[in-house]
Amino acid sequence: MVICLQCPHEDDSSEEDTTEEVYSPLTLEKLAMKRLLRGEALAISALKDLPHLLFPVMFEEAFINGRTKVLTAMIPVWPYPYLYVGMMIENRNLKTLKAMLEGLDILITQKVRSSRCKLTEINWKNEYHHVTGIWAGSCKLLPGFMTQKQPVQNRPGCGVKKELKVTTQLRLIEGRLGESDRYLFQWAQQRKDSVHLCYANLEIEGLTKASVIEIFKFLHADCVQDLLLGYLSKEDLDFLNPYLRQMNNLLNLTLCHIRRTLSMGDSEMLLLPPFHCLQKLSVNDSNYVYGNLKGFLRCLKKPLESLIITDCNLSQSDLDCLPYCSNIFYLKSLTLDSINLCDLLIEPLGFFLERVGHTLENLELESCGIQDSQLNTLLPALSQCSQLRVVSFNDNEFSLLFLKKLLHHTAQLSQLERDIYPAPLECYDRDVILSHRLEKLCPELLDILTAKRMPQEVTFETTQCSNCFGHYIYDLETENCRYEI
Ligand SMILES: [Zn+2]
Ligand SMILES: [Zn+2]
Repeated sequence: MVICLQCPHEDDSSEEDTTEEVYSPLTLEKLAMKRLLRGEALAISALKDLPHLLFPVMFEEAFINGRTKVLTAMIPVWPYPYLYVGMMIENRNLKTLKAMLEGLDILITQKVRSSRCKLTEINWKNEYHHVTGIWAGSCKLLPGFMTQKQPVQNRPGCGVKKELKVTTQLRLIEGRLGESDRYLFQWAQQRKDSVHLCYANLEIEGLTKASVIEIFKFLHADCVQDLLLGYLSKEDLDFLNPYLRQMNNLLNLTLCHIRRTLSMGDSEMLLLPPFHCLQKLSVNDSNYVYGNLKGFLRCLKKPLESLIITDCNLSQSDLDCLPYCSNIFYLKSLTLDSINLCDLLIEPLGFFLERVGHTLENLELESCGIQDSQLNTLLPALSQCSQLRVVSFNDNEFSLLFLKKLLHHTAQLSQLERDIYPAPLECYDRDVILSHRLEKLCPELLDILTAKRMPQEVTFETTQCSNCFGHYIYDLETENCRYEI
């Protein structure tokens, strides 16, 4: 329980927000599209003369404004191979999905395709949240989209070849599908000869065996590249194991709230099937990891790139095994967050850092309760992590003296682009955050870094106030202490 001295009034922050108005003028193209879309029939008749470049803009406007007839009409003449509906786009609902699928139906039943139509794949949903609008997949053709990262990265395809592909994300919560997911699933089942419904992203939270069996009758396990499993027991995972075994292209696996049941003895370990191309493994709030980390990591058959363990308990034997798990020796990213390490000997973590020092680019040890004496044992290994670009030690209990020691080590890491440190213990009076002390101490702390390298982004952050949930941040850029929620 930590509180700040002056929790700002709620009104203050809202005042700040309103003063910063973002003005974004509509582009001429968008204005023209808005005008055109006032009459759907006119817009549809204008499609035949519409330049390729304007298709995504028009589609986006029609989508946001629910002009479903226009959406349907645009699909069979879409002049690009790819149509990506950004995750954050407004109006993503059953109505707009139905309109697009109606357009695909026209395309499928056409004996002769329009020579203009190049469409082979629609991406209805996936994890690239930063794409907000409509994307046609080629940044060369779409100057307006040049600033956005290309959504399709170098990922292997699932290999299923059909006339049309609809890539989407499937969420199965307690055995139920959402309205749009259910509709799309049934639509694709009825057109399985010409359409491949590609579930690159699958989430199963809470298990209903019958629905998993139904889904997997239709789903190609090879399509799944990102898998999230949540709120499951060991028995549930045993049931899913044969399905997991078939996921030969699985790149990212996230396990949340996997519970060890009371009937499960300590010796009874949870074994996952071998994964041959897994790159990223995340485990969140799962008590079965405790004492079982070694057995758990045995599923990795290829060196892992990213390991994230958050809100879990680890035993001493779990830490001890880290320097001996060869399948994690090439990690680029290690996150241990909200794991209580303060009662453990963390030397093995130091040995492990020495092992991964040549590849590790991102190291986050946040809210781990690491204390001065423990930090000391990590420092020599940390100095060897020469590739580090991001480090975060946020929310640990370091005194000013040890924080300075840490900074003398990270000052040597020339690749660092982003450093996040906890405010030293001297910035608290028992449980009260003293922001003025943070403001006073930080320039001296920053000097340690600037003496050795040109730091880019550095912040010192206090613990969250239990009352207002805000915290204080001092950063290199502003050289000021600010309050943030
Ligand atoms: Zn407060
Ligand atoms: Zn597929």
